[in-house]
Amino acid sequence: MTPLRRSPLALPLALTLLAVLSGAGPVGATTTARVEVACPVCVATFTAPQIMSSNTFGGQDTDFMTRARGHQPLLIAPLLCLKCGYAGFLDEFTPVGTTDQAAPPLPEGLKKAILEEKRLTPRQPLPASGSFEEVPAWVRYDLIAQVYALRGAEPRAVARQYQNAAWVFRHRPEVYLHTLDDDQRAALKKALDEAFKGREGEIKDKHDGNQATFEVEVAEGLLAAAKAEGAPADLGARLGAFLLLRLHGENASARAALDLVKPLLKPEQAADLEEHFTQDLALEREFQAKAAAGLVQAAETTAHPGEKAAMRYHAGELYRRLEQYDKARALFDQTRNDPNLPDFLKKFQAFVEPRMPKP
Ligand SMILES: [Zn+2]
Repeated sequence: MTPLRRSPLALPLALTLLAVLSGAGPVGATTTARVEVACPVCVATFTAPQIMSSNTFGGQDTDFMTRARGHQPLLIAPLLCLKCGYAGFLDEFTPVGTTDQAAPPLPEGLKKAILEEKRLTPRQPLPASGSFEEVPAWVRYDLIAQVYALRGAEPRAVARQYQNAAWVFRHRPEVYLHTLDDDQRAALKKALDEAFKGREGEIKDKHDGNQATFEVEVAEGLLAAAKAEGAPADLGARLGAFLLLRLHGENASARAALDLVKPLLKPEQAADLEEHFTQDLALEREFQAKAAAGLVQAAETTAHPGEKAAMRYHAGELYRRLEQYDKARALFDQTRNDPNLPDFLKKFQAFVEPRMPKP
């Protein structure tokens, strides 16, 4: 007899929002340990998190960003030496006090470029003491991209760091929630509960188990309902649409939802939301544009047909998110009938293409 099962997929992003609303931290499903490392450039030592396990319960956005339940590896993974500015992943630092494999030594030219020529430029001043974890993850990814460029790494490796930096801005629900009062939070919670109620089956049936595209579709439904003639001025539903679209990086739609939210807020709340949205979006898009340009370059030089197709799709998807639709269409035209494009990316392309305005 098959045991009766609960639906295995909860609603992670909506749950994250609700957890933030209730003031509870995320329930940890990503686990980390603390390890001591030495900087391979200046030999300063510090402790850093090591990701022991994670998950992708939150699904995958159509530009490949995966979301974990609990703490996000994306925000934990980039390490930074506050003393010299060198940044990289855990295996690019030297382990201290263990027999773990040490990273290969860095070329002397790279050390000289960092220590003597000061070729790294952090986007925010680095604190003189304390933990590198106080530095926003996007600043750390930008530094990793700079280190990789100094090392002469392949364009795709540099582009990946810019993509990581852009993704960081999708993990800041608190900046959009912090001014809401109790009644507004209750309205948001009620609207999200209602929007998702009874629809869990669609994740498997319509979205191949992908929580992320399902949530985008739910949010678009809320936005369409709010835009309809004679629609009630439902703050909770409009906020729900805005937050879900923003946190999935569907920023053109998030902009439309925000414009519907603002008249229902106090003026100072509307101004705060607008400021955070505008500032974060400018940075997110700056990094998306760098990533897209790098991916286009990498796609032209790779000899591997599957990678070429995937990188063209990825760049096209970034240009769609940047609302540079001509560039997006040109790349999607190349991948649409490319037999080397993996099946899951064909599905992603079929999901995102109808979401662009008609030419
Ligand atoms: Zn250092």
